[in-house]
Amino acid sequence: MNFEQYDVNSLMFITNRPPLVFTEGSGMWLTDHNGKRYLDYLQGWAVNCLGHSPQCIQDALAAQTKKLINPSPAFYNEPSIKLAALLTANSCFDRVFFANSGAEANEGAIKLARKWGKKHKDGAFEIISFNHSFHGRTLATMSASGKHGWDTLYAPQVPGFPKAELNDIGSVEKLINANTVAVMLEPVQGEGGVIPASREFMQALRELTTRRGLLLIVDEVQTGMGRCGALFAHQLSDIAPDVMTLGKGIGGGVPLAAMLCTEAVACFEPGDQGGTYNGNPLMTAVGVAVMEALLQPGFLPSVQETGAYLRAELLQLCQQHGLQGERGEGLLRALELGRPIGAQLVEAARELQPLGLLLNSPRPDLLRFMPALNVSRDEIKQMISMLSGLLLQLK
Ligand SMILES: *Cc1c(COP(=O)(O)O)cnc(C)c1O
Repeated sequence: MNFEQYDVNSLMFITNRPPLVFTEGSGMWLTDHNGKRYLDYLQGWAVNCLGHSPQCIQDALAAQTKKLINPSPAFYNEPSIKLAALLTANSCFDRVFFANSGAEANEGAIKLARKWGKKHKDGAFEIISFNHSFHGRTLATMSASGKHGWDTLYAPQVPGFPKAELNDIGSVEKLINANTVAVMLEPVQGEGGVIPASREFMQALRELTTRRGLLLIVDEVQTGMGRCGALFAHQLSDIAPDVMTLGKGIGGGVPLAAMLCTEAVACFEPGDQGGTYNGNPLMTAVGVAVMEALLQPGFLPSVQETGAYLRAELLQLCQQHGLQGERGEGLLRALELGRPIGAQLVEAARELQPLGLLLNSPRPDLLRFMPALNVSRDEIKQMISMLSGLLLQLK
């Protein structure tokens, strides 16, 4: 089929897309309308933690579709009970609220913090967030995000999100006042360019928020669900936050997200929070399958090992091509190119023949890698060799 035969104009224009229509996916590979195959280091934007269409998700969807798709959020259903229990048993949290996107989970966290502030802190409502952070595309989560230009894009913003600097505890302390209720951050800033919060900073934040009676909210929409080599990235810093949000990987590709908190913070009353699709059995059944895969003995250690292997290969690429360096945690990694050739590389990689390569460049001088957590060493070697060839051409 020719791309020209598709009428794509009924789709609202929101971004420049290449003239490709993807028709099939399996593991680390995607196939387009011409049958060309691509090694996929985007994986639906870090959502396909087990790769494209893994058997366990196919099975969970097929089985649950036959049983029950949606009884309404006014009733209990089995998969959501099971998934909530798996999440609380494997984290420091006691309560789970399911949502359909990372932004919606973060909205829930923001509402919970404001409610908690109303009840326990004299109506305090300000949530300190960070420059270069990304928390989603609703009005409140855009306001919480520290993305350049977002403060004016749909002005006026939702008030109450002063911005501090990541890894600078003094910049957080300076912003605390009587209106402050919480601090919210990504353990590794993903969209901002894979910038990890240091272990020292995470621990200092936990100490500071506890001392000042503030909530610590971790947005683990990108870093959670094994992405960084631990089930949740904050565990790498040995801290216990009050609130955590999950998205992306928890659904393995389908729309599922969650907001978790400790019992002490769970202060919603009937009618405070909800959503028509929230916790529906079809999506939460997939969440159960994903959690069970991640909790298999040896799975998370293998993510650490594969992450270390990818890191070593990227460092070697740096040496060979005189690039600046690499950074990240587990299988959320970035290559610092040292010059603004990211977009050029992304395009050239996609256009490689006979096999293409899908990459992401969140900043002009950076490539981000977010492979399936079960990516093989051969699939890493293959990507590195394709990228190495492109870097030689660009010299
Ligand atoms: C992707 C992302 C979000 C938004 O998730 P959506 O499902 O796109 O709403 C929020 N926070 C972080 C850290 C993310 O990476």
